[in-house]
Amino acid sequence: MKNIVLFGPPGAGKGTQAEFLKEKYQLVHISTGDVFRYNIKNNTELGTLAKSYMDKGHLVPDEVTINMLKAEVEKNAKANGFIFDGFPRTEAQAEALSKLMEEKDSQINAMVALEVDDEVLVGRLLERGKVSGRADDANEEVIRERIAEYYRKTDILKGYYQKQDKYFGVNGVGSIEEITERLSKVIDKL
Ligand code: AMP
Repeated sequence: MKNIVLFGPPGAGKGTQAEFLKEKYQLVHISTGDVFRYNIKNNTELGTLAKSYMDKGHLVPDEVTINMLKAEVEKNAKANGFIFDGFPRTEAQAEALSKLMEEKDSQINAMVALEVDDEVLVGRLLERGKVSGRADDANEEVIRERIAEYYRKTDILKGYYQKQDKYFGVNGVGSIEEITERLSKVIDKL
């Protein structure tokens, strides 16, 4: 069983790459952002709460996010392994994930991080905003706030996984195929 955290700032390409990797390695892909957006679309209570944070470019509170993530993992009890995309984003989330994996006699095998310069990220997200229909991609101020939030709360997780010798950085600039290849080289060795 391989459990991978696909990491990187907003716009790094996590969602795009997860789509390829889940097929290649037969893993269940869980994107917390996608689950929140699904809930917003379906007007659930969780969706309404999440939207109030997402529209500002802020993180949804840990307790809510962790409970939601646990439920998604439980829904896929027979999975061969997971690709976590957009989770964990805080130290509390990383701790909760580690506990959850332990309870399943499993573990996170690696954090694979897509490394992309901030200005490239802003450009990519503005482009995506033209077609994605995502409110948080449509406004440069919100995009910059999401990147700021990443540096405030999420970037420190590199150290969290480095301490466990589980951090692998990959250049996130290039063609989709090139980047899938770089990620696969890391995953194949796990
Ligand atoms: P994403 O689709 O990963 O870019 O996430 C979009 C938005 O959903 C983020 O800006 C946050 O507001 C929220 N979100 C997604 N994942 C998390 C998480 N793990 N913790 C807190 N908020 C999250």
